[in-house]
Amino acid sequence: MSGVLAGKVALVTGASSGIGEGTALALAGASAKVAVSARRADRLDGLVKRIEAAGGEALALPGDVTDAGFAARIVEDTAGKFGRLDILVNSAGAIQEGHVENANLEDWRRTIELNLMASLYTCRAAIEPMRAQGSGDIINISSTAGRKATALFGPYCTSKFGLTAMTEGLRQEVGGYGIRVCIIEPGATSTELACGISDPDLRKSVQQLAEQDTSMKPEDIADAILFMVSLPRRANVAQMLIKPTSDTAPA
Ligand code: NDP
Repeated sequence: MSGVLAGKVALVTGASSGIGEGTALALAGASAKVAVSARRADRLDGLVKRIEAAGGEALALPGDVTDAGFAARIVEDTAGKFGRLDILVNSAGAIQEGHVENANLEDWRRTIELNLMASLYTCRAAIEPMRAQGSGDIINISSTAGRKATALFGPYCTSKFGLTAMTEGLRQEVGGYGIRVCIIEPGATSTELACGISDPDLRKSVQQLAEQDTSMKPEDIADAILFMVSLPRRANVAQMLIKPTSDTAPA
């Protein structure tokens, strides 16, 4: 294979479904070697087989990315297996409704741990190999919920605002090492995300929104990531807000 990412190595978290899976396929389709991580090992094995069947190289790294040791290890294992690390995409995440009054503290902690801290763990581990190479791309998947808070999704919005802030700080921190950093803020995208909503009525309405014909598909976000990593290294797309065309609400 000799696509635009030939010779590059990527690690994608949250790759067992949705945006992470679509991104792994897109990066492999552009000839990157791809390590894929999430908890569902069977899904990862299926993804690795699909990539290999198309002539690519992939590695499954199953586990829970909220475990700081595991998160650091998948970065090391990717670089260990493929010899370098060029692209890190943090797509592992979950949605969680909740208010501040009578807050379910466990829901808040779990959501912040997954949507914010897990990305911190992998980003922290990726700096050293990328700095040694003098190049690297880190892409974190936030959300429109990281730009506009709503009372209904307190833990989710809080985690995504935090992720956006951490990512922008990281961009300022590591640009001098040749590492590009990008935060992506998708709107409604057709994935399994809404399955994680506890309240059945709310789950149904968010699922319906995500499944509309006008919603984006995971490959749309994957294509945006491919665009970002394919630009000349002097150009860093720092932030991408990607909304369904039909979503005409103010950004
Ligand atoms: P999915 O539910 O399809 O994907 C979420 C991924 O995260 C799965 O691969 C899941 O795999 C993984 N994951 C969840 N918990 C853990 C964990 N503890 N450890 C490791 N992996 C974990 O949803 P999306 O693809 O939509 O979500 C991807 C990202 O995009 C999320 O950060 C989400 O917030 C964001 N986003 C999505 C939008 C949408 O409309 N879909 C809009 C805006 C942002 P597994 O269960 O196998 O561990």
